[in-house]
Amino acid sequence: MLEARSVTFGYNGTSKMLLREISVSVAPGDFTMLLGPNGCGKSTVLKLLAGFLSARSGDVRLDGVELKQIPPRERARRIGVVPQEMPPVLDFTVEEMVMMGRNPRLPRLAPPGPEDLAIVGKMLKLLELSALARRPCNRLSGGERQRVLIGAALALEPDYLLMDEPTSALDPAHALRLPAILRSLRHSPGCLITTHNLQLAARFADRILLLGEHGIHDAGTPRDVLVPENIRAVYHCDAEILTDRSGGIVPCLRSPEEQLR
Ligand code: ADP
Repeated sequence: MLEARSVTFGYNGTSKMLLREISVSVAPGDFTMLLGPNGCGKSTVLKLLAGFLSARSGDVRLDGVELKQIPPRERARRIGVVPQEMPPVLDFTVEEMVMMGRNPRLPRLAPPGPEDLAIVGKMLKLLELSALARRPCNRLSGGERQRVLIGAALALEPDYLLMDEPTSALDPAHALRLPAILRSLRHSPGCLITTHNLQLAARFADRILLLGEHGIHDAGTPRDVLVPENIRAVYHCDAEILTDRSGGIVPCLRSPEEQLR
């Protein structure tokens, strides 16, 4: 279990606490989606769980052990992270970037072995990147770069995977494929995924955490959480919850202009 317990956090230089006594947990194999408006602290929650930021109070634990007690390399091996954007990468190729994701698993300075190469090849194929394998990352589209970041995190084969808006630049078909890819993996990681794609969350999340201005507004199954009252409370938008042919829910938001009509 990867969990933040009663965590309070504020960025240096700001007097206000962004998160107050928040508790978030991800169990092995769990598929949780973290929703909420811009600026409510979703990325910050992921960074706290990854150990990139330290809580002012409360703690973050991995299988009961405080994250700060775990050596950084072990942490990096067990917790994969997909950031919102790719850092500047000079001219590393797609294949090299995906292989770099596997680094925490390799002995220091050791070249990749046959198993590493096989896993990278598999991830390139799963993410439809094989044809781009030798292309430098700085010559990719935004969606292709996002798939490289996902491929790198999956090549690590982590126990937990924290993904920050991993479908924001993906076309609808690639976005729909992502949950299936995650569930098809040999070792399916416990996932916490931030998204603004309510339809994707409604369809695929086991559990939704809805973050609002004042912390976690609601948590539970998509059907329980994605209700018009919750959507109005955190996004200040009216919503209609439709049902598709297989009985799944499809949240549809109304823009303020539509609401005025
Ligand atoms: P979200 O992912 O929900 O859009 P973030 O967690 O990125 O929100 O940011 C939450 C708030 O913290 C925002 O108001 C943002 O401007 C602020 N913030 C993010 N990073 C920093 C930082 N390094 N220093 C100061 N404030 C920050």
